[in-house]
Formats: sequence, C-alpha cells, structure tokens
Amino acid sequence: MSKIAIMGAMMEEVDPFLELREHEPLLKHFKKHNDIEYGGNIYHEAKFKNHDIVLAYSKIGKVNATLTAATMIEKFGAEILLFTGVAGGINPQLKIGDLVAATQLCQHDLDITAFGHPHGYVPEGSVYVKSSTVLLQIAKKVAEEKNINLLGGIVATGDQFISDEAKKEWIRKTFDADALEMEGAAVAVVCDALRVPFFIMRSISDTADAGAVEDFDEFLKHSSQRSSSFILGMLDKIVDGQIK
Ligand code: SAH
Repeated sequence: MSKIAIMGAMMEEVDPFLELREHEPLLKHFKKHNDIEYGGNIYHEAKFKNHDIVLAYSKIGKVNATLTAATMIEKFGAEILLFTGVAGGINPQLKIGDLVAATQLCQHDLDITAFGHPHGYVPEGSVYVKSSTVLLQIAKKVAEEKNINLLGGIVATGDQFISDEAKKEWIRKTFDADALEMEGAAVAVVCDALRVPFFIMRSISDTADAGAVEDFDEFLKHSSQRSSSFILGMLDKIVDGQIK
C-alpha cells in the first residue's frame, strides 16, 4: 500500500477535497483527517479506503511548490504524488474547463542561454522531466470510462502569471508547450530526483492572453472542481491496486 500525496498550489485547488467551504466536499470519501502544520503550510493526513493520504496546497510559485512536494515525500513519506490545479491554455484545442495531463514539464523562465545552453536547461539537469507512464495510463483509463476528452501535453512552468499573447506564443514556440502554470515543473524535478512517480493534472482556467485575469477569476472554482474530480477517479484506480 502506497502513501499518496495530493497537492495543489492554491486553497481553491484542494478545497474540493476538504470541508473548508460550503460546497459538496469530495473529502466525504476520506475518513476524518489530522491536520499538521509544517513550514508554514497545513498538511492534512487522511485515509482513503485504508490507504494513507497526505493533502496540502503549497501557495503559488516554484519555490513554494518545491518545499511542499519535498516535505510530502521526505517528512510524510509519500510514495506517489498527484497534483491537481488550473492552468493557462496554449494549445488552441484546450478550452476553459478542459483537462490536460502533463506528459513532460519544463521551466520556461530558467535561462542560462548566455552560456550557449537551451532555454530551460541547467547542467546535469534536462529541459523536460517526464511524468510516470503508469499514472498516465491510469489517467487515460479514467478519461475513457468517464468519457472525458483528456489531452496529454507539455506543461511549461514559470514564476509569472502569463496574460500576454506574445509571451504565450514565445513559450509555445520555444517549448512546444500545450499549457502553462507556475508549479508543475518544480514538483516534477523534486519527484524525479527522489524517484517518486508523479502526475500533474490541470484544468484550463484561462488562455494566458489579455483576458486571462478575468477568466481566471471566473473559472478558478469550476476548473479546480473538474481537476479534483478527475484526481479522485484516479485515486480509486490506484487504491484498487493498479499501481504498487
Ligand atoms: N488570483 C491569485 C493569483 C493566481 S496566480 C491571487 O491573486 O492570489 C495563477 C495560479 O494558477 C498559479 O498557481 C498557476 O499555476 C495557475 N495559472 C492559471 N493560469 C495561469 C496563467 N495564465 N499563467 C500562469 N499561471 C497560471
């Protein structure tokens, strides 16, 4: 039995799992949880069908995401990490609310190109980090069963909210990215280094252009809910023994 981490960046992204707000909580599926404060965040320990779960949001950005992912693994003993949240869509196929599963992630703001390296690269690292193929297969099954159109794609991460067509286009061109956000690649680097299978799910909240702020505010809750529901579907399969 593996201990499973469920992580988001913002409270709204993990809220559907908790009883913090009035709306129907997905955490009704979880047994009573234990809340532990550590390093400025709250980690909720819970049981889901006899499996141990640790759930938290990190706060926004790569540094916060790194701290939380590493804490979930090193302090709480997580052996699988599932990320749930929202992103700006780049691929025109992706409409608001649609789901994208990161197959690979990169850091669009990591730049030592002055030394002749490609964007997103540091020595002894790589531009892209690949997600767990087993978890991607589970996601594919969940999507088929729920009749959801799930796009597998490249997710670009950086410490910037992108609301500009030219910047978005640069990220698309440079990294062949389908969606962008502010935490995924940091989580990927941590999990890859510590050999923990990970999966990053994002539901589109905006399309990273001039209307991004308004769209984000309008669709954050709905898109977070869609992403969380999908992750719950994956949890069901994981605890049913489709991954060891
Ligand atoms: N409204 C928030 C800030 C949100 S930042 C506040 O005022 O506190 C955007 C968050 O959603 C990040 O966690 C990021 O991962 C994701 N995201 C969604 N759309 C994005 C976009 N267009 N650019 C960058 N990140 C985006």
